[in-house]
Amino acid sequence: YKFKVGLEKSREKFQSEINELMARYRTVDEDFFEALEEVLISADVGFNTVMELTDELRHVAKVNNITDTSELRETIVEKMVEIYERNDNLPETVNIQEEGLTVILVVGVNGVGKTTSIGKLAHKYKQEGKNVMLAAGDTFRAGAINQLKVWGERVDVDVISQAEGSDPAAVMFDAVNAAKKRGTDILICDTAGRLQNKGNLMNELSKMKKVIQKVVPEAPHESLLVLDATTGQNALSQAKSFKDVTDVSGIVLTKLDGTAKGGIVLAIKNELGIPVKFVGLGEQLDDLQEFNAENYVYGLFA
Ligand code: GDP
Repeated sequence: YKFKVGLEKSREKFQSEINELMARYRTVDEDFFEALEEVLISADVGFNTVMELTDELRHVAKVNNITDTSELRETIVEKMVEIYERNDNLPETVNIQEEGLTVILVVGVNGVGKTTSIGKLAHKYKQEGKNVMLAAGDTFRAGAINQLKVWGERVDVDVISQAEGSDPAAVMFDAVNAAKKRGTDILICDTAGRLQNKGNLMNELSKMKKVIQKVVPEAPHESLLVLDATTGQNALSQAKSFKDVTDVSGIVLTKLDGTAKGGIVLAIKNELGIPVKFVGLGEQLDDLQEFNAENYVYGLFA
């Protein structure tokens, strides 16, 4: 249901394009398939998926003697879901430890919705009955620490922080020790996402990780990259840059409710091979959903 509502803009665009296409091409022929390919590619579905889909549609039309394009309408969506389920073997679930501390590192440039997503995540895990703590590792951006504290208050979780400008690795040291001592289940760590200086960012993140690993050797259990879906191809290039500087185990794709190009999720999975683990579908606390390919594709196209 959330997916349906959050993907409304994308679905409207896709459906009106399909309607236009069906009105323009009434007979199933090569011209129709080529026009369909264009619509799907412009929806950011990903080239390989589009080719696989239209090949299978050609086959379905042939063996069933379908000549009227409108009769293929349902099949387009059904096949799309089928292809995603068939090809999608990336882990969608988040690596939460059954016992002991789980550390989640959150990276991303300013403005993508990183702080909001951390707040939503904290809320989600708290509602599941976990003890959650936040670490204010973005000591660089003015206001970042306070913003995180506001979220901490809102969802009623502790925030470990130091003064602005302090060493983020020192904050991590405090946070991971405090989390251990208090028996915290999930520690979510904010970081400064300064892609302008990749060398610095790489050093900063690896230092943070080293400090965390002194206390919890197998941490971080997840490194989530937050991307803004409304920035389209820019989000893709940010993902590539972050992949260069650090390990990314999953993506949080925000503001899907604000774009008609919801197919970007599929493009990210196709091109980067990084699983989208959460999607942001609005500004409220519970507008963060665990990603699910089937719900997603149906929300997008059906
Ligand atoms: P940060 O600089 O990356 O920490 O970004 P913020 O968390 O401050 O978010 C920037 C803006 O995006 C805020 O106005 C948020 O309310 C908004 N935002 C974040 N996630 C979503 C989402 O999934 N949907 C919508 N519509 N807005 C979002």
